[in-house]
Amino acid sequence: MESVDPAEVGKKKNFATLKAEIIDTGLCTRCGGCVGVCPDDALEIGDVLGDSLPQQKGDCNDCGLCHTACSGGEVIFPQLNEQVFGQQPKNMLLGQYENIFVGHASEGGVRSQGASGGVVTAVLCHLLATGEVDGAIVLGMDEAEPWKSEVRIARTPAEVQAAAQSKYSLSPVNTIFRELDDLPGRFAYVGLPCQVHSLRKLQAAGHPAACKITHVIGSYCGTILQFDAVRSFLRNNGVRDIEQITDLQYRAGEWPGQMQVTLKSGEVIALKKFYANYLIPFFMVDRCKLCTDLANEFADIACGDAWAPVYEERGLGWSLVMGRTKKGAALLESMAAQGKLSLNPLEEESAVSMHSHMLDFKKRGAFLRMERRQKRGLPVPEYGFKPNDIPRERRIFEAVLGSIFWLCSLGVSRWLVEHFPVKITGQLFEQARLAWKRLTRTTKRKGLGHTSFTVVDNKRDKS
Ligand SMILES: Cc1cc2nc3c(=O)[nH]c(=O)nc-3n(C[C@H](O)[C@H](O)[C@H](O)COP(=O)(O)OP(=O)(O)OC[C@H]3O[C@@H](n4cnc5c(N)ncnc54)[C@H](O)[C@@H]3O)c2cc1C
Repeated sequence: MESVDPAEVGKKKNFATLKAEIIDTGLCTRCGGCVGVCPDDALEIGDVLGDSLPQQKGDCNDCGLCHTACSGGEVIFPQLNEQVFGQQPKNMLLGQYENIFVGHASEGGVRSQGASGGVVTAVLCHLLATGEVDGAIVLGMDEAEPWKSEVRIARTPAEVQAAAQSKYSLSPVNTIFRELDDLPGRFAYVGLPCQVHSLRKLQAAGHPAACKITHVIGSYCGTILQFDAVRSFLRNNGVRDIEQITDLQYRAGEWPGQMQVTLKSGEVIALKKFYANYLIPFFMVDRCKLCTDLANEFADIACGDAWAPVYEERGLGWSLVMGRTKKGAALLESMAAQGKLSLNPLEEESAVSMHSHMLDFKKRGAFLRMERRQKRGLPVPEYGFKPNDIPRERRIFEAVLGSIFWLCSLGVSRWLVEHFPVKITGQLFEQARLAWKRLTRTTKRKGLGHTSFTVVDNKRDKS
């Protein structure tokens, strides 16, 4: 591995500088883009069930493509908005959109197998069935090692359906660009916000593999977890060997689903999704705390859970669906007209309200956490915008939240949570979350809807 002369950092564009600027400083999102575009196949994801960070395995020719693909450092939202939509969004919390719905796949099986309402799967199946794309990039589970996720190109609706549901452990999806290089045709793609950032940056640069992707379906993303979350959950249930797993699902069964592990012995270990959320503060990937995109703002179509009591009480599976580009919006309307999707229009205000806590976490909290990093002399991502005024109450709230995250990240806390009955932890966590939500409704949301944002020219600010 080449070592970096500090004077070269920020100048020479090769993997050594990417490592020094992004990976070693904790800014890597693990989107997998750098590995996927390396023309010399010189990069790989190391320790896939651990940190999942890119590492060098061969000679680097200094082409700089890994920097272009990187979503960890510079993702300039105003530029991406111009590139994807030709305009800036009116609502900075949700991003640009043409239409918003609550709905689900019409086909019962697709809906019930989906993480939310099965809309992502239904859209991908439709695109394949109509021949609009030749393949769909999806994240399924590895057949041979069913505890690992596996990115692949689905060629049939059945293959798309087999990859339904959310996988909450680190999965560097954009490594797949490597395979697209040699394949003819057009492709649909489903990815998290950071993965879509990398894809859009590559499309802006005219990267051939990225330009084969004609339809970008994005899932909302609050945070992603380290695989250690699964290990901890299993150990808590007396299982120490992940090779005992024959099936791992993060959202099995009826919406909102449950974390469910089936073992070779036939035993099934399961925990309701809202209870399994107890794993989040302990195993959240640190970089997610600096991400400012919950709603996959640069996708053609973005989908999340329709978190509102009125839908949660009904069960069955409900998605919040946004047609962002004109193409995405028209596709949703056409599928609804053909009876493939059941969609009801949703007001912008309700879309914000369904996710107000996570929007706040991303649109104000992330900037406060960046401020803190900067005070400690650490680099932060550049997004090209920032919120103007963040009230004092929100800053105090962030300090409390930061302390909780810090406490949970300690080895001793992880050990304790692993040795406490998981069902009780889950219940306590859920009760605490609901109480916290009620208590902080005013503090957290205060001014959220009225938060204004300023475009920041980082290049000029730096000079
Ligand atoms: C890590 C993660 C965090 C999320 N956080 C939130 C949140 O905070 N709030 C919210 O409302 N929604 C969140 N979601 C989205 C939600 O869980 C559903 O994925 C979304 O609502 C789509 O549901 P669906 O039934 O239409 O998808 P499905 O029809 O089940 O299809 C899901 C598709 O997503 C792909 N996929 C699954 N996991 C990943 C992954 N890790 N990376 C890339 N592609 C993947 C699969 O290939 C599949 O095609 C998150 C999803 C993930 C993966």
